[in-house]
Amino acid sequence: MKIVLASNNAKKLKELDAILAPLGWELIPQGELDIPEAEEPHVTFVENAIAKARHAARLSGMPALADDSGLCVAALGGAPGVQSARYAGEPKSDARNNEKLLAALAKHDSRAAHFVSVIVFVRHAADPQPLIAEGEWHGEIITEHRGAGGFGYDPLFFVPEFGKTAAELDPAIKNGVSHRAQALQSLLARLRR
Ligand code: IMP
Repeated sequence: MKIVLASNNAKKLKELDAILAPLGWELIPQGELDIPEAEEPHVTFVENAIAKARHAARLSGMPALADDSGLCVAALGGAPGVQSARYAGEPKSDARNNEKLLAALAKHDSRAAHFVSVIVFVRHAADPQPLIAEGEWHGEIITEHRGAGGFGYDPLFFVPEFGKTAAELDPAIKNGVSHRAQALQSLLARLRR
């Protein structure tokens, strides 16, 4: 079965391809079909993921898969949340996002945070029952950068069970336990059912 992926991110394509291969699915990035990126106007991950999947299904006439992810910090009311990629404004910058996060947390005692990943599958644009899978990865925001791996907020995201930041973790370990990994495994279980 051919499925449109509502993303052109090569890393995501590879990760999803590996997990979904046993189902015999072929993922086609939406860019290959000249489908432009969807708007993401909503305040929740799930609404944005549904909007992206529906957009890709509508313009391709095929089933579609989309994801939306970000970092939520409890002391900041869930921010940066759906704004994670552009927390410090345009153009997107991981370095400026991280500086803004440290500044925002300077006056707070609680530094608990979690990453969220929501993955949505729609059989067609008007599918009344999208499959929705969610993953969460809990940790805390430390006060200075540690580690050179990963991307985004990884150098500030400390994972107590490993005693390391996400940027210090071996990528294979991160990809086995992260919010995205958990959402993908949950999606796979749903699809198999
Ligand atoms: P996307 O929509 O999945 O591309 O991710 C949105 C934003 O959330 C990214 O630009 C990062 O700032 C942040 N983010 C999502 N997942 C991760 C992660 O695994 N590590 C660090 N930052 C992440």
